Amino acid sequence: MKIGVVGTGLVGGACANACVLRGVGTELVLVDHNSDLAMAQAEDIFHATPFAQSMPVRAGSYDDLEGCGIVMVAAGVNQKPGESRLDLLKRNADIFRRIVPDIIKAAPQAILLIATNPVDIMAHLATEVAQESGIAAHRVIGSGTILDTARFRALLARHLGISSHSIHAYVLGEHGDSEMLHWSGVTVGTVSLPVFAADMRVALTDAVRDEIDRGVRQAAARIIRGKGATYYGIGAGMARIARGIIENEQAVITCTQLHPEIEGIRNVALSLPVIINAQGVAHIVHPALAGNERQALARSAEILRHAADAIGCR
Ligand code: NAD
Repeated sequence: MKIGVVGTGLVGGACANACVLRGVGTELVLVDHNSDLAMAQAEDIFHATPFAQSMPVRAGSYDDLEGCGIVMVAAGVNQKPGESRLDLLKRNADIFRRIVPDIIKAAPQAILLIATNPVDIMAHLATEVAQESGIAAHRVIGSGTILDTARFRALLARHLGISSHSIHAYVLGEHGDSEMLHWSGVTVGTVSLPVFAADMRVALTDAVRDEIDRGVRQAAARIIRGKGATYYGIGAGMARIARGIIENEQAVITCTQLHPEIEGIRNVALSLPVIINAQGVAHIVHPALAGNERQALARSAEILRHAADAIGCR
């Protein structure tokens, strides 16, 4: 499948690179309004193909997205000194109102994968713009908490001394401060987390849970302090969603969808576990939540609805 990447900075570059290294897709087209950057990224990533998946990787214009089955969007601007989060949100919303129609015009059959932050709001907006062209909401997917879920699993795996692949743990709600680690639903293999921890004689105190919670919730801030941006993790996550689509995998992944209603809040985009297949999001999996988790999800939904209102989303 031909994959497009729009916005080829650190995140878009990491998305394209992860696709090449993991053998996701058969052709990549990189688009950025800085065409020199798109060309440089394409050339650099193309040089990795003999070590990984052999495929064409080139820079192009929106017209060159024709035939793409997936278009990843990581175009955005960074916060200016003194700029509020809301002003930044409005500037990124303006970019999306311009580029999403261009993408759809060139590749009307593509599934859109959104990474630009704040990703839940950008996915909400992209969904509304796509719907104006008759594209169904399940074909517009935000990366959402796929990365937070991966961080949760990685930290639990390290604490328990077990492979992260054997852990089922999910982060729900906003990709951001109000996200909710779904502790009550964590299983390791077939058993619940407390049963497994007791069996392995590994501590699972409140202090341990708090440390893992902080490790997940504050990961982006910590990484940005050290190197200015995060990109490898999200690049791998975007390639993971794309593989689920290309292979019609029916995989359960946490990512953003526009939901008609969450905990009494109408029309809100956030992450729940969803089934990903060739159609995009095939089904929403509604997990059983403890009382405090329901409240946390409701709070996340409220915050996101408020932000969506601020840029005029329905
Ligand atoms: P970056 O500045 O390196 O790249 C952004 C790119 O977008 C630039 O190359 C810029 O030229 C391009 N761009 C801007 N306006 C454009 C337009 N109108 N058309 C085409 N291209 C345009 O930033 P980055 O570090 O790659 O981050 C990109 C986005 O991804 C940010 O919003 C960031 O917050 C987000 N991000 C999301 C996650 C996640 O988990 N979803 C993780 C990390 C970063």
